[in-house]
Amino acid sequence: MEGIMKTAVMTGIRKVEVTNRPIPVPAENEVLVKVEYVGICGSDLHYYEAGRIGDFIVEPPFILGHEAGGIVVETGSNVRNLKVGDRVALEPGKTCGTCEFCKSGKYNLCPDVVFFATPPVDGVFQEYAVHDAGLCFPIPDNMSTMEAALIEPLAVGLHAAIQGGAGIGQTAVVTGAGCIGLVSLMALKAMGVSRVYVVDVMEKRLQKALELGADGVINGREEDAVAKIMEWTNGAGCDLSIETAGTEITTTQLIQMEKKGSTIVLVGYSASGKLTLPVSTALDKELTFKTVFRYRNIYPMAIEAVAQGKIKIKDIVTNIFELDEIADALEQSVENKADIVKGVIKI
Ligand SMILES: [Zn+2]
Ligand SMILES: [Zn+2]
Repeated sequence: MEGIMKTAVMTGIRKVEVTNRPIPVPAENEVLVKVEYVGICGSDLHYYEAGRIGDFIVEPPFILGHEAGGIVVETGSNVRNLKVGDRVALEPGKTCGTCEFCKSGKYNLCPDVVFFATPPVDGVFQEYAVHDAGLCFPIPDNMSTMEAALIEPLAVGLHAAIQGGAGIGQTAVVTGAGCIGLVSLMALKAMGVSRVYVVDVMEKRLQKALELGADGVINGREEDAVAKIMEWTNGAGCDLSIETAGTEITTTQLIQMEKKGSTIVLVGYSASGKLTLPVSTALDKELTFKTVFRYRNIYPMAIEAVAQGKIKIKDIVTNIFELDEIADALEQSVENKADIVKGVIKI
């Protein structure tokens, strides 16, 4: 399909312009997707604001956006699993398929992964994208392409819940109620965890957590989170926790409120990349620490959970912006983190 499409290009720190580029051509194993929705992720905002995350440095012009849903409009000559008109969720990471991690199924750890919107690989804040057919997962008729876009962050929450051994009858705590905290909450509930408590310091996020099914929320600025969890669990502590805030305070609180022998899943990156923690307490309790890097083998499960109504993923969205107003959308999202819990760009 020849033609011109709109693309949102990051041209410098806190600068994004909508410009025209040629519509890309799919290779034989790829499809061309008309992108319909792309979620705004914390990592996009970080690149936009700071120009880097750790060793990944933006070299403008660069395209952000990695949470995409859309419609297949053209297929490469070898593509058999998809046809024109299929609505799909795009898994953003293409891996080598031959290294020991890929072969053992832990493909998210592939050293050669090529991932949307991770410098130098461009993302998909644009009207069309080509992508490996094997990484485009069809969604059923009762799901929207906005929900397809949100499968990406949901996959992180499900991976964290699975890593933590979530199951029926447990009590869990999630620290941080940004997008990843909220999808972790939803994943835990969907996996049968009986009670999920959420800790944050922003009221609007806590309200959102309640709306999405949290059994109790704690504003860590106003209340002693550890005392509150101990009260709610009759002194027992929690069976499992997912840390998404990336702070020493929240991680320390989890160590204190965990039941002996239980598991903490670390998901949030701390600002400095380091945490000082009460390790003796963790040893005394024989806690297990797990970490997650993105996710693996989750998309089909996540799509099924949303299609069956087990996870109402669209309810996390607080703001929908048009592609033409993306500069404003990113600026507002950075300036107003307390109110914009999850934004998406409609393309
Ligand atoms: Zn994301
Ligand atoms: Zn590999």
